[in-house]
Amino acid sequence: MSEPDVSNLIGVTQAVAIIDAVRVTPRVTRVPVVDALGLRLAENLLADRDFPPFDKSQMDGYAVRSADVATAPAELAVVGEVAAGTSFERELQPGETVAIMTGAPMPAGADGVIPVEDSERVGDDRVRFAKPAVRGRYIAPRGSDAKEKQLVLPKGVRLDAAQLAVAASVGAAEVPVFERPRVAVLSTGDELVPVEQTPGPHQIRNSNSVMLLALLRKLGCQVTDVGSVRDDPELIRAAIEEGLKHDVLFVTGGMSMGTHDHVPQVLKDLGFDLKVTKLRVKPGKPFVFGVRGTAEEATAGRFVFGLPGNPVSGFVCTVRLASRLLARLAGGEPREKWLAGRLEVGMAPNGPREFYQPVIWSPAQGGTSARSEFANVTPLNWKGSADLFTLAKANAFLVRPENEPPLAKGTLVRVLEI
Ligand code: AMP
Ligand code: MG
Repeated sequence: MSEPDVSNLIGVTQAVAIIDAVRVTPRVTRVPVVDALGLRLAENLLADRDFPPFDKSQMDGYAVRSADVATAPAELAVVGEVAAGTSFERELQPGETVAIMTGAPMPAGADGVIPVEDSERVGDDRVRFAKPAVRGRYIAPRGSDAKEKQLVLPKGVRLDAAQLAVAASVGAAEVPVFERPRVAVLSTGDELVPVEQTPGPHQIRNSNSVMLLALLRKLGCQVTDVGSVRDDPELIRAAIEEGLKHDVLFVTGGMSMGTHDHVPQVLKDLGFDLKVTKLRVKPGKPFVFGVRGTAEEATAGRFVFGLPGNPVSGFVCTVRLASRLLARLAGGEPREKWLAGRLEVGMAPNGPREFYQPVIWSPAQGGTSARSEFANVTPLNWKGSADLFTLAKANAFLVRPENEPPLAKGTLVRVLEI
């Protein structure tokens, strides 16, 4: 199939470099540790004390002087009990033992723990041990997990359940985090009606806003729906200005060369430097990336992504390109989730644009043959950039380089996880 000449457009690699080169200043805030799930830490977190803060018993049993139980059987006098959250107030003397619980501090003078399973009570205040004690056994020494002032969570780390527990342990009741990027979505097009409305014969429902709001939320943003607007430069300008109250504005539709495509001009009029206006990518050619102002000025209203109205195009451009800026605005690094697999069928040569072919990536099932070491990649019969229905069946894109020769069945390929 012949295509218009695209050699004057920039490629995806170049667009990635342009987007990655833009300086960003993520917003920093403090939130209660229980609300920080999924956010990134904005400062290094240090241990506020030793962990554990005392020599700690790792077992329910008896704290002993190991010299007293050098051989077994041996019998000692039980002179007290120490549970987690309490302490034994004097030094343990020869011939004495203290019943101790997991998590309790070791009494002074004790240097071993004998688990309750290896003991037998004889009368009220004596205990017999079947096995000798080993010095230091079942004791976690003070500071053995982390020392006071030690780095326990680095700036930039994503706070998941375990990291939140670490923050809580070191007393960060409020954690310094990068705020989620504030992102707005605007759809443009005379043909659009809101999803709750019945479209006329020549109208369509605004599915892009629903898709993008979901995708952007998944990418860690706080999202605002600015709705949709007709292909009228004045209305578009007003709606865009509303959207520019946020850090990043996504506009879909009206991005290409048609007589009703006003968005790029409106963005220029609003002072945006359009760093990308067309891309050698399929789908997604009419992709726009614009920047205004400097990183030192307010972040709000600084970035705009213009996406083609065709849903799969907008999806690809958001996942492959816009996500990189959003990751940095959230205090992280761009992340590409590549998977490998073997092609289930051969594929024709690719054209001059980097091609994102929807596929199903499926992990190999059990087995020991060499083939089972790899996942399978099944290309879907995709009918073009408007074909949402096939996109909804896919879980990855096979990314085909510009002008790639035919691929034989069984070729090992990389796919980008959706
Ligand atoms: P455009 O980029 O404005 O030329 O639109 C390209 C195609 O995408 C057209 O068929 C539009 O009807 C369709 N389209 C544009 N905006 C949306 C939207 N918000 N939801 C679903 N389809 C859209
Ligand atoms: Mg349009």
